[in-house]
Amino acid sequence: MVNYKDLGLVNTREMFAKAIDGGYAIPAFNFNNMEQLQAIIKACAETKSPVILQVSSGARKYANQTLLRYMAEGAVEYAKELGWEHPQICLHLDHGDTFELCKSCVDFGFSSVMIDGSSLPYEENIALTKKVVEYAHQYDVTVEAELGVLAGVEDDVVAEESHYTKPEEVIDFATRTGCDSLAISIGTSHGAYKFKPEQCTRDPKTGKLVPPPLAFDVLEEVEKVLHGSSSVPQEYVDIINTHGGNLPDAVGIPEDQLRKAAKSAVCKINIDSDSRLAFTAAVRKVLAEKPGEFDPRKYCGPARDEMVKLYKHKIIEVLGSDGKAE
Ligand SMILES: [Zn+2]
Repeated sequence: MVNYKDLGLVNTREMFAKAIDGGYAIPAFNFNNMEQLQAIIKACAETKSPVILQVSSGARKYANQTLLRYMAEGAVEYAKELGWEHPQICLHLDHGDTFELCKSCVDFGFSSVMIDGSSLPYEENIALTKKVVEYAHQYDVTVEAELGVLAGVEDDVVAEESHYTKPEEVIDFATRTGCDSLAISIGTSHGAYKFKPEQCTRDPKTGKLVPPPLAFDVLEEVEKVLHGSSSVPQEYVDIINTHGGNLPDAVGIPEDQLRKAAKSAVCKINIDSDSRLAFTAAVRKVLAEKPGEFDPRKYCGPARDEMVKLYKHKIIEVLGSDGKAE
């Protein structure tokens, strides 16, 4: 049994309370590799932003759960080395699907877990979530649950259609499970193709797809976490497509919508695809411009720099979490 407090990590309780009071949202960034983790920590240290490091099931398969946990521990020390005196870093399991997995993460030093029972019938989702909450809270580990279904593809999470969260179920669910936060479905989705072209309108000037707005009426009723909140920056899509890539009609959530969500009832916003796009755009550019390059540091380095820029932009311009963890 490893307690996250001994690793210098924090849970989400105080982070979320402050974020709701202060009208901003905590960034939740997924990581799979060293460059991504370095970029997240550097961006957060430079902006003094609290952060949630997320580990998905895909990340655990790709990088190994043990290694990822030690990397997060190293990240706390790295943050201090960068001059961030009191780093506020949470290590969170993204989309846990069983009690056993959540338990193993709690036992292993995670400070927060998500139990995603959203594909189950309502009462079964409640029972599973409650079981995880009862275990995790013994160790002061916070629990995120999910109500409503997000469409899209995120590692192993695949859903054809979204089902918006029903506001009338939220209070009942939160009270009966004791969960600390709730991922809700108001129109975001996983991945870089958030909407089908027929769900969007086309901007007559640019010819680009404009997605439908988020369902803000659900937000007023609940206290919440937004998944699938990448914006799919067009400049990255363009760099990728002009350097040998092929991402036609990739669409995300406009940043002004996310800014509005961060200012209102949303306390955590998950961003993953945008950093993948930043990474891929930078790598494709280097490899296209320097075909003789074969040192991974020469393309992973610029990719890392690009991700730092992206994370800082999100923190300062979208989430408003800069300066909130001195
Ligand atoms: Zn998610």
